[in-house]
Amino acid sequence: MEKTFELFDFSKLQNRLVFSIELKLKTPLHIGGNDDGVSPTDMPILRLPEPDGRPYIPGSSLKGMLRSASERLYHLIEDTIQDPMALTVGENGQYTTSLCYLENGDCSVGKGPQDKTRNAEIIKNTLMNKSLSEKEKYKIIYRLVCPSCRTYGAGSMASKVRVHHVVLDDNTQVRDGIRIDRETGAVAPQAKFDYEYVEAGQTITLRIEGENMDQENEAILALALLQLKNNMLRLGGLQARGLGELQYVSGVVKRINYNHQNRKELLEMLLLDHDGLQATSQTDMENSQKEKGEFDSAITLECYLREALGGYLT
Ligand SMILES: [Zn+2]
Repeated sequence: MEKTFELFDFSKLQNRLVFSIELKLKTPLHIGGNDDGVSPTDMPILRLPEPDGRPYIPGSSLKGMLRSASERLYHLIEDTIQDPMALTVGENGQYTTSLCYLENGDCSVGKGPQDKTRNAEIIKNTLMNKSLSEKEKYKIIYRLVCPSCRTYGAGSMASKVRVHHVVLDDNTQVRDGIRIDRETGAVAPQAKFDYEYVEAGQTITLRIEGENMDQENEAILALALLQLKNNMLRLGGLQARGLGELQYVSGVVKRINYNHQNRKELLEMLLLDHDGLQATSQTDMENSQKEKGEFDSAITLECYLREALGGYLT
């Protein structure tokens, strides 16, 4: 569905989380591209427009991988989410905060059609209410959508998490495949096809940014990053053939608080146009931390995840 507009969080920029995560392509990767009919293979990979032409992973694919990872472990923290506005009525008549079933890109919280209708109705009325400012609308709708949509966005709600594209080295191959009929186990008609993939081995750097993340948003994202750190996630197509395995190498996180006490350091950092994350090796990181003193030093992803999920370790 084409999005016509998005509500953004117009409140002050309070904090930013910047992640830099290094991963190795453990097995080949296939992120499907548009078949323009020119490609010599049946299943070409996605590439940057010419003249560059290198393969890349769109931020949206990476974000989609993170979102579904968060959602498959959400039940671990579900009971702890504090949400007085949750519209889902659980089995015992108690309010719970289930995740939505995204319908036409809109968050529909609720187990039954009544909840969904009610929710959709309030969101629609809020959006059309001319006496409300954009900021007020955001605040109301933010409480109405589910924790996953609050973090990753949906429908009229902008995402708090942004994932950058990753451009890959052009080490590609084409492999022959055979389609098997799932029901009969026989070779399907027109079974032979070939697909293009990026070879295993290269190291990629994921850059993820979160803005104005609260405790809940951070926990939701941390559930996904935890799985990334433990090599539990796969990316792209043809996963049943073993493609898309990722191996965690290292990760750093920087938390930047935009408050008055940090003014001098903040402005200097912004003037230098650097966020302290270029450093990836330990020595570089230590050096850059020395340069910047104690200000918002980057921590390892491992430390960060323990911090973000600390409240759930009791
Ligand atoms: Zn939702």
